[in-house]
Amino acid sequence: MKMKEELEREMQIAIVGAGTMGMGIAQVAAMAGHTTLLFDPKEGAVNKAILRIRSTLEQLYEKGRISSAEVEAACARLKPVQAIGDLSGAGLVIEAIIEDLDLKRELFGHLDRLVSADTILATNTSSLMVTSVAASCNLPGRVVGMHFFNPAPVMPLVEIIPALQTGQDTTRAAVDLIRRWGKVPVVVKDTPGFIVNRLARPYYGESLRMLEEGVADEATIDHALRSIGGFRMGPFELMDLIGNDVNYAVTETVWKQMYYDPRYRPSLIQKRMAEAGYFGRKSGRGYFDYGEGAVKSQPSGDQTLWNVIFHRVISMLVNEAAEACYLQIATKEELDLAMTKGVNYPKGLLQWGDEIGLSQILDTLVSLQELTGDMRYRPSVLLRRLVAEGKGFYTD
Ligand code: NAD
Repeated sequence: MKMKEELEREMQIAIVGAGTMGMGIAQVAAMAGHTTLLFDPKEGAVNKAILRIRSTLEQLYEKGRISSAEVEAACARLKPVQAIGDLSGAGLVIEAIIEDLDLKRELFGHLDRLVSADTILATNTSSLMVTSVAASCNLPGRVVGMHFFNPAPVMPLVEIIPALQTGQDTTRAAVDLIRRWGKVPVVVKDTPGFIVNRLARPYYGESLRMLEEGVADEATIDHALRSIGGFRMGPFELMDLIGNDVNYAVTETVWKQMYYDPRYRPSLIQKRMAEAGYFGRKSGRGYFDYGEGAVKSQPSGDQTLWNVIFHRVISMLVNEAAEACYLQIATKEELDLAMTKGVNYPKGLLQWGDEIGLSQILDTLVSLQELTGDMRYRPSVLLRRLVAEGKGFYTD
């Protein structure tokens, strides 16, 4: 008799949308042993994706990470599909098409009628509400969010987002599968930005605010967060890598979905950068110049200034994590895991807060709020409560 795991490996996975994310997820599924059907209506997109996956796997072979037999076996499992109807036998469909709610709802409505009743339908959306996507299906209980991070084969984290309608068995199956693929699943409520894109907002927002106030320039803020915080990249070089257009759009979406809560208010500086086409690396110019012969900006100031910068940003980050914990969007362990496994933060934010001392975090927020009168600095109820009780997130 076949073992459960073997049967699950035999399950066909279908990926709809063969762009950046679809390609990465297809690689993960094929490497995990699944026959992986790949569909994209754009001429040549699927074949291009398969060629790129092969080239990535060959590079892994050259580095001695996988055998040539594994390369061939994974590539043989990738099946280009001409028509969406050919996906009907899949046990799981992962959608990775462009970020457009109407298109996603139309696609899910179609898939819902096409596949069998026990097929799970997953969306890789980063900013749309899974509940709204699920509502386009007759069987919304089988719809779940599976949010991979870019590049999908490298980043361990996958946020699993049950919609309001999602069945518990669907969520459990999604978590189990992601774990079997060697990835780290975290379950998060269907709320704006899920975990990572919500908790990371102040990293950019507070840095932009300090730039606006003239506290320091971009290179100095980046330097402070790298050298004192231990972040791999400073916020400005990271925004330039992500793209100022993309980063601005995420911020604006979260802010609107949060009913214009000032905590998430975007920055005019970033909006202007996006409007000017100063997207960052991809356009050759962003906060820094990437043109030929460009001179790298150097940080200024001293340890005292860098400490101020770090404390403003980390206090806002810990406060955001505290608020997410207070509102129970995920467990504290999952909130911490998400930031280390999804965006390579050196520590989970709640653990970090405990290490710094929650009263110091609270003091920073309270004095910024008093000084500016801006509600963006209002401390989370949970942070206030823990400080009053002399506790930490993980310590009594
Ligand atoms: P992309 O533009 O690289 O790829 C999208 C692909 O979908 C294109 O190949 C396009 O031809 C195809 N497509 C468009 N409409 C389609 C349809 N109706 N049916 C089938 N295919 C269709 O985009 P991406 O960066 O891979 O993003 C895909 C999804 O993943 C989005 O929802 C995005 O928010 C999410 N996401 C992106 C990232 C990232 O860093 N790029 C990270 C996590 C999640």
